[in-house]
Amino acid sequence: MTTTLLDQIQSADGPEILDPATGEFIARAPQTSAADLDDAVACAVRAQVSWAATPDPERQSALHAAADAVEAHAEELAQLLSREQGKPLNGPNARFEVGACVAWLRTAASIPVEPEVLLDDESGHAELHYRPLGVVGAIGPWNWPMMISVWQIAPSLRMGNTVVIKPSEYTPLSVLALVKVLNSALPADVLIAVPGDGSLGKQLTEHADIAKIMFTGSVTTGKAIIKTAADTMKRMTMELGGNDAGIVLDDADPAAIAEDLFWGAFINTGQTCAALKRLYVPDSIYEEVCQALTEVAAKMPMGIGLEEQNVLGPLQNAKQRDIVARLVDAAKDSGARVLIGADPDDDAAGFFYPATLVADIDPQNPLVTEEQFGPALPIIRYTDLDQAIEWANGLEVGLGSSVWSSDVARATEVAARLQAGTTWINKHGAIDPRVPFGGAKQSGFGLEFGLQGLKEVAQPHVIQR
Ligand code: NDP
Repeated sequence: MTTTLLDQIQSADGPEILDPATGEFIARAPQTSAADLDDAVACAVRAQVSWAATPDPERQSALHAAADAVEAHAEELAQLLSREQGKPLNGPNARFEVGACVAWLRTAASIPVEPEVLLDDESGHAELHYRPLGVVGAIGPWNWPMMISVWQIAPSLRMGNTVVIKPSEYTPLSVLALVKVLNSALPADVLIAVPGDGSLGKQLTEHADIAKIMFTGSVTTGKAIIKTAADTMKRMTMELGGNDAGIVLDDADPAAIAEDLFWGAFINTGQTCAALKRLYVPDSIYEEVCQALTEVAAKMPMGIGLEEQNVLGPLQNAKQRDIVARLVDAAKDSGARVLIGADPDDDAAGFFYPATLVADIDPQNPLVTEEQFGPALPIIRYTDLDQAIEWANGLEVGLGSSVWSSDVARATEVAARLQAGTTWINKHGAIDPRVPFGGAKQSGFGLEFGLQGLKEVAQPHVIQR
């Protein structure tokens, strides 16, 4: 009899994990005790000595072998991810996420990292080297549990660190299965998963033997971690929440941009940090953009993730579904116009909320100014581009943003005025493992991906003579 990954990771006791689309029982997730976490960190500290001494080409090969292992288990991983997180297999969802894990592993393995000569003249010679930091503590959310774990694991390992990773208590099975597969190609104890709730995450951020925290999650938790990690002066990468603005310019072609606008907002059923969360559209083409977006939204099937035709799924948990419902209901009560959606089936077994477009909404409405993190997009009318830019920049967060126009030069000028870690032109949320990604303002600090991402999990060391 073949043993599934789920058989290998589930535990006899521990919290029940239910399918958010059906409410069906999947498995019980193991729990790490405080003492077990200490043991895990001690193992990772010991393993780090030989991993750091392993030549870089061997670490690169190990990461490629880990990517091969993910490819070999891709469909099983995607199915488990779909059942636990809720995202459909198809569309930019579960199979896409597993594919992204492979891409990010291979890119982190492949980018050359060389010492940099800073100075070489009659006054002297100075070089900048990148050394391992030690043990990285990784803490992640429930929306892209596998992909975000790889964003934390792959660069850390490449740079000679070992990793102790705490998954979200909502999606532990996905991360445990991924770690199981990765570990089939990695030396013992360079990567250890410690499933548990936020208290375990806090313990990790306080631990004296953790050199760096890579955190992806909410702004509130990020602030708490910065405080607890201060006592041991940990290095930190903070990828926090956003509320991304998109600005359509008056020369854009509504029909041509509608599908990309839709996926910019509704990727992973809107549960994406750098998704389009508020769209500013000029009065002159407002109705055409609303109409084109509504036509796209109307043809996107939502349902159980394992059913091949679906491209939108449930919210991952009841709390998130209720946040979306509360904000959309309040927008409706304020007089905003619902173009599509906003009418959930209260008898559905899962945490479904329909893809919702809300027009003629006040720019200060909470559906616009709060991160709803789900399948709802407010469309705000503007007549003055400077005003739209001011609204876009008016929040305390600034992860991504986008400008939509038929004139790239004009769009680029507007992009330069937006306060965000990334501004896309005629697309939104299109990340690439070679291009650094990070937040402005309270969306966090530190970069992931690319050469810059590798340097962020290393200790810069100057050698000078
Ligand atoms: P949370 O901040 O609630 O949780 C993130 C992780 O932190 C979980 O593993 C959680 O554990 C853990 N945690 C909770 N409290 C503490 C603590 N005191 N110390 C250490 N760890 C702790 O975020 P969500 O999981 O709800 O994810 C949604 C949020 O994440 C959204 O705001 C979204 O914008 C943001 N996000 C940002 C991304 C980015 O790249 N910038 C990407 C994806 C999401 P547990 O839940 O198990 O208790």
